[in-house]
Amino acid sequence: MRILIVEDEPRLLANLARALREEDYAVDTADNGEDGVFKAETYDYDAIVLDVMLPKLDGWEVLARVRKKKQTPVLMLTARDASSDRVRGLDGGADDYLIKPFDLPELLARLRALIRRSAGQSQSTIDLGKCRSTRAPRR
Ligand code: CA
Repeated sequence: MRILIVEDEPRLLANLARALREEDYAVDTADNGEDGVFKAETYDYDAIVLDVMLPKLDGWEVLARVRKKKQTPVLMLTARDASSDRVRGLDGGADDYLIKPFDLPELLARLRALIRRSAGQSQSTIDLGKCRSTRAPRR
């Protein structure tokens, strides 16, 4: 499983990356929207964790650009109490969202659910094969 995290807060980015690596995900990171779009378009990820507030391009713009080319599952990280953000994210093609600050176990659970759901959808056969082969040992 390969995950892209797009987040500009260095501590949160480092913590997320470490936690996901401990769960045996291969993790790439981007600390601004432009880099996030580039990586999301260039490489194939099983899921993307995308913060809304980012330098250069915000999360909405990143999502819009990625969705023109790819259906990679996206978990948005939104601000607390911004319910309009959540509606906007889901309308814009986000697959799920979490409100900051969030619990790490919840993020991990939602990521697993996203990846499971997307494995049943019609993505490229390469992605499906990859998901199935690495899914088996997981809970
Ligand atoms: Ca941010």
